[in-house]
Amino acid sequence: MSKLYNILSLKCPRCRKGKLFAKHNPYSFKGSLDMPKHCPVCDQDFMIEPGFYIGALWTSFPIVILIMAILSVILLIGFKMDLNWFFVTIAVVLFLLQPVIIRLGRAIWIHIFVDYEKTLTEK
Ligand SMILES: [Zn+2]
Repeated sequence: MSKLYNILSLKCPRCRKGKLFAKHNPYSFKGSLDMPKHCPVCDQDFMIEPGFYIGALWTSFPIVILIMAILSVILLIGFKMDLNWFFVTIAVVLFLLQPVIIRLGRAIWIHIFVDYEKTLTEK
């Protein structure tokens, strides 16, 4: 299982088994960003330091840029969309994708700091 797949499936970076988020559905009204303090499988600390996930802004921002770039090509070049409608569409899409983007950004962020330990899964 690759690191990218592990990030996309929002799993613990250390054991690649435990879930990073308490709720599976990113659109559950309450607590979609709730994370357990420790990995339920390998006990890896998910809150490495206070405010750890503030840094995840640096990993969710590129995702936003990527989505905007892809939408720009599709809507402006593909559909020749009016610029005003384009900005409305971008705003709506980014707003709707917000929970998914934040969760992915956090997953990437913790994967930068915590390495996979193969021995944990071989037990
Ligand atoms: Zn774990």
